[in-house]
Amino acid sequence: MLKSVVFLLRCNSNRIVRDQVRYASQALPQLSSEKYNVKRKQFGTVQESDINYFKSILSEERVLTDENDVLPFNIDWIKNCRGQSKVVLKPRNTEEVSKIIKYCNDKHLAVCPQGGNTGLVGGSVPVFDEVVLCLGLLNKIISLDEISGVLICEAGCILESLDTYVRERNLIMPLDLGAKGTCQIGGNASTNAGGLRLLRYGNLHGSILGIEAVKADGTVIDCLTTMKKDNTGYHLKHLFIGSEGTLGIVTKVSINCPVLPKAVTVGFFGVKDFQSVLKLYESAKLSLGEILSAFEMADFNAINSSVTNLNLPNPIDEYPFYVLVETHGSDEGHDAEKLNRFLDKEMESGLIIDGTVTSEPAKMQTIWNLRESIAGSSLTRGYVFKYDVSIPLGNYYDLVPMLRKKLGNKALDVYGYGHIGDSNIHINIVVPEYTKEIGSQIEPYVFEEVSKLNGSISAEHGVGFRKPQYIHYSKIESALDLMRELKTLMDPKGILNPYKVLPEK
Ligand SMILES: Cc1cc2nc3c(=O)[nH]c(=O)nc-3n(C[C@H](O)[C@H](O)[C@H](O)COP(=O)(O)OP(=O)(O)OC[C@H]3O[C@@H](n4cnc5c(N)ncnc54)[C@H](O)[C@@H]3O)c2cc1C
Repeated sequence: MLKSVVFLLRCNSNRIVRDQVRYASQALPQLSSEKYNVKRKQFGTVQESDINYFKSILSEERVLTDENDVLPFNIDWIKNCRGQSKVVLKPRNTEEVSKIIKYCNDKHLAVCPQGGNTGLVGGSVPVFDEVVLCLGLLNKIISLDEISGVLICEAGCILESLDTYVRERNLIMPLDLGAKGTCQIGGNASTNAGGLRLLRYGNLHGSILGIEAVKADGTVIDCLTTMKKDNTGYHLKHLFIGSEGTLGIVTKVSINCPVLPKAVTVGFFGVKDFQSVLKLYESAKLSLGEILSAFEMADFNAINSSVTNLNLPNPIDEYPFYVLVETHGSDEGHDAEKLNRFLDKEMESGLIIDGTVTSEPAKMQTIWNLRESIAGSSLTRGYVFKYDVSIPLGNYYDLVPMLRKKLGNKALDVYGYGHIGDSNIHINIVVPEYTKEIGSQIEPYVFEEVSKLNGSISAEHGVGFRKPQYIHYSKIESALDLMRELKTLMDPKGILNPYKVLPEK
């Protein structure tokens, strides 16, 4: 039965108020244009007449121009990038988005689309004075077909709110990430976000069935199919999934939601070295089969960062490596038995030194918190260089000891954690403060090494503002040329999220 509902989800205004308080009491990050020596492209500059036009199609309160109101939209989550936008627009529906984009295209005004602003590569904030297009008010659920599991919603819906909504109807969202309380489904689509359960439910190129998007000239492209099978020519949705707002503005998505697992079990294990982590992964796939939904690893320093900086409890002792295994199944007794059998077997083999298995929601949450909090746990210690790369499993962890050796005591901490099941490792390097000197020791070194290992310099966070100059480590020139041709075709004036994704020729 197709339930047609219009359901208003929580908008992120609370977060914005909080952020304003936060920025008021802290030093502002350096301007991105100065920090990274970028030249402004020849776009128009927003004039009073433009503001008046925006107010005429939105309303006074949905056009922000006050410096304090605009500030949080200029700064990214890790406080690495700061733009200089003077105006934030808050459309409420596709039609308003279309009018804004058409107007900006005609006036040659650059636009930076922004979802939850949790992106980690500087793609979500302007570099100069781009108009910020805040998608947070496009927050309606349009329909949920409880039989097929297909949800249609607007781009500004917050991932966690969607998950809560579909869980009440025995479904789950096919993706889950640490930023779920703030990130938006449109941002997830635009970054092709991966997250914690990609191993089980696949990536968004598969889960997202259809997309409605607004092109740079304001045309609305309605490809909002709900069909899993639709081989009618080119699959246009893929152009918008993962293109980070450079080819169009995502306004709606239809997404396939898996069934809510009746039984969820989480195991958290201490392991002596990285080779044991790999062997354990192999064994988990064999022992747990189709119920394996996540296989995450973190080294001691990563977990210790959550424990020490955020005061989070670690349910087991201290070990060089930790593994988090989650199962999603339909029979609690059967699944827990399988996981316990796996634990017994591998404790006997010595791969697991210590561990805990639980199906209690509160305990599972404690374990997941420990893992999900790693990403933000060091931000108060100084500046964090964050890398999100994929590396074939045999060499997955190589870079962490290499970086520790290379940086010595210049780094306060270097640690690795990530989604083993997807060959995706996050490497965080904590330094007292950002300096160009330390930056040049780390980059392009990290990307060169990833390339030598046949990995990807961006596994799931995208290219954004921070990585275009390194994209060639993972994409050959002919592929980059085709990307440029697509960009020119879809956004001839280059107004959509300039300075992002594509490197200068
Ligand atoms: C604590 C934490 C944990 C994280 N964990 C993960 C993880 O496990 N896996 C993962 O993949 N990422 C992770 N991230 C990164 C981030 O949450 C994802 O990239 C997320 O998908 C971004 O969504 P957002 O709504 O915040 O988008 P934003 O950060 O606002 O934007 C991201 C990019 O998409 C563009 N964009 C946003 N909305 C639209 C739209 N409607 N139309 C067109 N373009 C748009 C922006 O211009 C920008 O280029 C994490 C981040 C944090 C802070």
